[in-house]
Amino acid sequence: MLKGKTALVTGSTSGIGQGIAERLAAEGCNIVLNGFGDADEIETLRQGIADANGVEVAYSAADMSKPDEIRDMIREAEGRFGAIDILVNNAGIQHVAPVDEFPPEKWEQIIAINLSHVFYTTHHALPKMRERGWGRIINIASAHGLVASAGKAGYVAAKHGVIGLTKTTALDTAGTGITCNAICPGWVKTPLVVKQIEAKARDKGIAIEQAERELLAEKQPALEFVTPEQLGAYAAFLCSDAARTVTGAQVQIDGGWTAQ
Ligand code: NAD
Repeated sequence: MLKGKTALVTGSTSGIGQGIAERLAAEGCNIVLNGFGDADEIETLRQGIADANGVEVAYSAADMSKPDEIRDMIREAEGRFGAIDILVNNAGIQHVAPVDEFPPEKWEQIIAINLSHVFYTTHHALPKMRERGWGRIINIASAHGLVASAGKAGYVAAKHGVIGLTKTTALDTAGTGITCNAICPGWVKTPLVVKQIEAKARDKGIAIEQAERELLAEKQPALEFVTPEQLGAYAAFLCSDAARTVTGAQVQIDGGWTAQ
């Protein structure tokens, strides 16, 4: 149980981040949600997680591509809860195009959101973790942090960077009660991937179900999607005392993708 701890999960208004936030709330954590979306839907999500688990749930609309907003988000969360004990860096976007056609503004945006935000949240949240002598930093990287796919220059570069940053943060905090690890999911059927499935179905003139099967068959030998619940369960394990010596790791939860 993580009762009384506070977890900030970036990009938690959808998909994997939401799954992790819900699981950490079920473990007793107060939660800071972050991400974009419809204001009423976000409020329903916020209230629902609070009511279901008897924890406090705050929401920050900070844009993870903006360092000043990230700093303010961390300060506000610390002001309300005292410290961020568990930091889950999850916000991320995708864009697919060959490297020579990759729009430079997309490159900049992906590096800012998928990589630099992980530096800024960590940079601002660590001092309070150090004061308390306990902390968990969980970076949601990807199978694309370990291997590449065509057309994903920005995403693959950023996710490889996240794994390097994870290792360095683990070394900088070793022996302090703080751990830093990266989770590397394979395909998870979230809005980020549904867009890619729809694009495949459109480009090939095939049904959505067939596009899903082909997407899995290309990369993920288990032929089933990883779920946000499974990732939430792993994040909860990394926060447990049993995982106190797990640091600097990159854990594949990818249906065999990177075993090939
Ligand atoms: P998603 O699109 O469902 O969720 C992304 C979340 O990030 C949303 O809450 C969105 O509002 C938020 N977000 C986007 N830009 C933001 C910004 N500038 N500031 C603040 N929040 C922002 O996607 P997902 O699949 O749940 O992805 C979550 C993370 O998991 C990403 O880092 C992604 O790269 C990674 N990942 C996803 C998969 C997959 O198959 N879905 C696989 C491996 C890794």
